[in-house]
Amino acid sequence: MRTAPAPLPVVRGEGVYLYTEDGRKILDGISSWWVNIHGHSHPKLNEALADQAKQIEHVLFAGCTHEPAVALAERLLKVLPQNLTRIFYSDNGSTAVEVAMKMALQYWRNRGEERTQIVGLHHAYHGDTAGAMSASDDSVFTQAFSRMLFPVTRVHAPYCYRCPLGLKREKCNIDCLGDLEQQLRSSSGKVAAVILEPMLQGAGGMIVWPREFLAGVRRLCDEHNVLMIADEVLTGFGRTGKMFACEHAGVQPDILCMSKALTGGYLPLGATAATEAIYETFLSGDRAKTFFHGHSYTANPLACAVGVASLDLFHETNALESVARIEAQMRRGLEPLRSRPNVGDVRVIGGIGAVEIQSKEVRSEEIQSGELQGEELQGESGYLNNIGPRLAAKFLERGVLLRPLGNIVYFMPPYVITERETAWVLEQIAEVIDEI
Ligand code: PLP
Repeated sequence: MRTAPAPLPVVRGEGVYLYTEDGRKILDGISSWWVNIHGHSHPKLNEALADQAKQIEHVLFAGCTHEPAVALAERLLKVLPQNLTRIFYSDNGSTAVEVAMKMALQYWRNRGEERTQIVGLHHAYHGDTAGAMSASDDSVFTQAFSRMLFPVTRVHAPYCYRCPLGLKREKCNIDCLGDLEQQLRSSSGKVAAVILEPMLQGAGGMIVWPREFLAGVRRLCDEHNVLMIADEVLTGFGRTGKMFACEHAGVQPDILCMSKALTGGYLPLGATAATEAIYETFLSGDRAKTFFHGHSYTANPLACAVGVASLDLFHETNALESVARIEAQMRRGLEPLRSRPNVGDVRVIGGIGAVEIQSKEVRSEEIQSGELQGEELQGESGYLNNIGPRLAAKFLERGVLLRPLGNIVYFMPPYVITERETAWVLEQIAEVIDEI
């Protein structure tokens, strides 16, 4: 990118800070792409990693198993929604999603039903591999690859600030759910699964949902006998204030995807949890019913060992209390920004705070190419809004790493951030918003 600044030459990390070759100390305000929860280079996680390396660094996970994978699966089953009893490992968030969708399709096939439709949501982001892109909304992240993607039916998401039905939350009855209801009714017997990011759509703009929407999706999936896949790659492990975001609405998905904070932010690992009913459709003497999906580094022992240590640390440090403290502070710090003339919306959930800036700035090439439509054309939202990189540069000058999603500034620190550090970042956000 001709316009991109030089990358940060990071040499060391400790707690919430990154240290660069040229002597800068930068607060990691986005948890290194939403993965880090206990801080960088944590002594306990370092120790778990080193200890495991002395035992077995990696072994294929086909026909072999190992203690860290078993231990991690057992720990996960203790914290996951109770109906989820089986764990399938892979090696990152996108593959955890690919696995979930393949599992859903084959679940129906193994039962002798051909159900091939997946239903996803507008504003969704599920990853950068082909299947995960297919399930994601059409966006700048997927447009160049549209021909290699499979068709996914998309329905309304509850983006209340930009309500797809033009309603106000105070008066609505989660009417946007009607779109999914109609879709499930009209495609009866064809839909394999509905996939969604529960409570918080991340890369689509840090969109926080009313919990009633999530509860409504579960109800509709039950009514229409369709599997529900919760992509908790971002929201899992406390990020939204609950261990898993599905808990906000008291729902249990049929399949749940995990990655990112699964290893505390240390190593790539994916895990897809499923119900016993799903597992049983694969358990057969017929080899054609096998779930054929394996990556070279599936269930890497180093990653699993760090995952176990990270969960231990999660409980020892009362991580959910830290997230609750961060949430309260975010609310106090960000809510007053609503009154700023250039702020459209403020959204907070758990350890994530977002400010949607109203900006009229868009790239002229985009307008000319006809890439943008409707509201986007007005330049009020969108990843390519030039305000994003401008804001990021200003934050970096002040010593905090934040990477706005276009006009959406968000703050998502590791849970070990102190009250003072949180207050300082919130101050930087307020000042930069005033400056622009
Ligand atoms: N699902 C969600 C909700 C995500 O936010 C992401 C990444 O940001 C992914 C899946 C993909 O994860 P990964 O980048 O590890 O492939």
